[in-house]
Amino acid sequence: MTTIAHRDADALALHLDEARRDYAGLKDRGLSLDLTRGKPSPEQLDLSAELLTLPGGRYTALDGTDCRNYGAPGDGLRELRDIFAPALQVPVDQLLAVGNSSLELMHDCLVHALLGTVPGAEGRWADQRVAFLCPVPGYDRHFALCERLGIDMIPVPMTDGGPDMGVVENLVRSDARIKGIWCVPKYSNPDGTCYSDETVRRLSTMETAAPDFRIFWDNAYAVHHLDGETGVGDILAACAEAGHPDRVFVFGSTSKITFAGAGVAFLGSSPANVAWWRANSTKRTIGPDKLNQLRHALFLKDTDGLRAHMRRHRRILAPKFETVDRVFSEQLGDTGLATWTRPKGGYFVALTVLDGCAREVVRLAAEAGIAVTPAGATHPHGNDPDDRVIRIGPSYPTLEELEQIAYGITVCVRLAGYERLTAQR
Ligand code: PMP
Repeated sequence: MTTIAHRDADALALHLDEARRDYAGLKDRGLSLDLTRGKPSPEQLDLSAELLTLPGGRYTALDGTDCRNYGAPGDGLRELRDIFAPALQVPVDQLLAVGNSSLELMHDCLVHALLGTVPGAEGRWADQRVAFLCPVPGYDRHFALCERLGIDMIPVPMTDGGPDMGVVENLVRSDARIKGIWCVPKYSNPDGTCYSDETVRRLSTMETAAPDFRIFWDNAYAVHHLDGETGVGDILAACAEAGHPDRVFVFGSTSKITFAGAGVAFLGSSPANVAWWRANSTKRTIGPDKLNQLRHALFLKDTDGLRAHMRRHRRILAPKFETVDRVFSEQLGDTGLATWTRPKGGYFVALTVLDGCAREVVRLAAEAGIAVTPAGATHPHGNDPDDRVIRIGPSYPTLEELEQIAYGITVCVRLAGYERLTAQR
């Protein structure tokens, strides 16, 4: 990254002075603002207020199931799976609606693969030293799952079209310990990347030394568009066509569609993987919360209803992303101190500062009353080796707060950046 300031000592001193003054002014504002997690705002939650009155005395699913009771369908209500099957690109018979959080389904898939035998495996993962590929920057909770379950993590750099497939192909071809890869294919957390057709093709066709290799396709932002409707290739169909039908688990949820934590999660995969999942999960639970599924189906109605609902989210979210981009552009645009992504959907912006500055920016922001996701959270074990990526999640604060937060972060980026450049002279 080049800067206008670093060649000229006097200009640099001026910039540093100015940044120090602005930072003192920022601290004087006595802010107390939080940007740590990308939660939906209360205004977004209000869009689903009707859910609180549903199912409104109804309790019978389309197939006649009494949703108040134990019993079938263990795969979840058909009418809800019908709504989400096109969005998640999974044939409805291979899509299950289960639980309230996709993260718990990812957790359970890993645990079942560790303690049982996933289709195609020669043994339990728990009896081997296994590793997952982790595209970076990535989602901290994926990394936390690996850490928790003793799965080694191998970082792979992201490109504009997804993980660097040359690196991925070389690793999985030669190392049978590598059992999987984390993928957030659409509007990736945190950089907003959408996987290209080429990436989908190479993921589905690549040779893997492990016969039981799995893609954890976390499509958390499948319908969360901010600008147009970007499509990503159908990984399940691509894997089946390439002769690897069991290679992928698709995950999704309504967490950022209706109520986060009080929604419905989805798992889609090949018939063999779905049967394997069912066999394992029937030991764990007698069945999903069908009443919650019923109210979601009644509320969203159909795939068009889902689309219309997401457009209402977009109206709230898009100005927030625009605010971050505008303030960053105004304050950092010609400094050379940072770059940031302009996602077309999802929940996050990745801010990249000068090497060695991200932790300092987050520390300075905290001291000025702005809590930001810890630097390093975007990498396995919280370790960003270049210390340069910061995750920005603009969804929760109001527009007014965001204006202050975005400005505050730019002041910290300028102060940390100019201090570093000064120290390097
Ligand atoms: N995956 C990704 C990529 C996410 O960003 C999030 C939410 N931050 C989740 C999963 C969590 O989803 P859920 O609430 O369904 O567990």
